[in-house]
Amino acid sequence: MEDVKRMRELHRARFDAEPEVFAAPGRVNLIGEHTDYAEGFVMPVAIDFATLAAISPRDDGRVVMWAENYGEERSFDAAALPPERSGEWSDYPVGVLRMLAEAGVAIPASANSGLSLSLWGDVPLGSGLSSSASVEVATATAVVALVGATISGPELARLCQRAENEFVGANCGIMDQFISANGRANHALLLDCRDLSYRLAPIPENVALVIANTMVRHSIAGGEYGTRRAEVELACRILAGHRPEIRFLRDATVEDLARWGSEIPEAARKRARHIITENARTVAAADALERHDMKQLGELMREAHWSYSRDFEASCAEADRMVELAETLPGLIGARLTGGGFGGCTVNLVEQEQANGFKAALGKLYAQETGIEPEIYVCHASDGAHRVAP
Ligand code: ADP
Ligand code: MG
Repeated sequence: MEDVKRMRELHRARFDAEPEVFAAPGRVNLIGEHTDYAEGFVMPVAIDFATLAAISPRDDGRVVMWAENYGEERSFDAAALPPERSGEWSDYPVGVLRMLAEAGVAIPASANSGLSLSLWGDVPLGSGLSSSASVEVATATAVVALVGATISGPELARLCQRAENEFVGANCGIMDQFISANGRANHALLLDCRDLSYRLAPIPENVALVIANTMVRHSIAGGEYGTRRAEVELACRILAGHRPEIRFLRDATVEDLARWGSEIPEAARKRARHIITENARTVAAADALERHDMKQLGELMREAHWSYSRDFEASCAEADRMVELAETLPGLIGARLTGGGFGGCTVNLVEQEQANGFKAALGKLYAQETGIEPEIYVCHASDGAHRVAP
């Protein structure tokens, strides 16, 4: 709330106008890794780190953007937004404005209309919590409200994903924007990446999400990503040779793998086994949350981690160790490596009253063993994009 007040004052002082303020969160993926491009399931949670967007109309035909985190202003002619990326922060909001215009939500609506936009966020940048999606979704939500348009949450997410894919030039899936737009406090969101249908699954209020950054990012990540996708496609093609209805690994089962797995080269077979079992685990995890069966959820997260590590081979020694250390600590429900792999963050579900002790102990143990000070955030499942009341 303090942050919102500060944003309001900052915007008022800079633009001499009373803004409306919107918030869109970052996220963490609880379970469902590398299942998105197999048209499978993911289950992210919106967290209580967010980007705030303060917005007000202008009558000089300009789009003026202020990034409080960078202390920088960018100003454009509303009728002639840059057609190309510049490689800096303004690409995200500009990309969103361009995609909104393509969808028929254009600034200017009349010759002199424009807007002033102030952005500020506390989502750690580049830590895998998707500050970029939170900027996009906050911007889109603010602009849609300013011009009085209506766009559904899923549509808004698609549009922001297109801004990041096509304008910013980052090849991300739909998950980050989808959860930032559609998340709900005290819930995880089970998303079907095939048709974007989703359901919310409750996370008990006394459970914290402790996100621990290993602070390592192994350089193989880029190249290995391509290899993994090729292996996944190979396995899919071989299974589809037997069952043509298998279009993506989402359509395959462990029984298929048991029957025809011997025809698949070993590496590809292991990647496929991860994706097929991960898909099932992700749906099972939503079911476990609905039953309030935290023990089962923890077990599924544990299985997911070791499947990611041993079958998909996308973990690393530091992340494996961080998960093992978490499992020795009181209050832990489940821990696993989250995100694209080869480093990054682990996500830990922890009983709320133990969360601060867990954070301190995990930080200490990890630093002792690896010599690396991790960054650790205690978060809670939060609402997706929304207007912030004055
Ligand atoms: P992440 O994993 O955090 O999404 P990305 O590299 O995808 O990492 O996105 C980070 C980029 O998003 C930053 O370099 C910046 O350009 C933009 N960004 C994030 N937060 C803000 C913010 N509060 N204000 C302006 N730009 C931001
Ligand atoms: Mg990003």
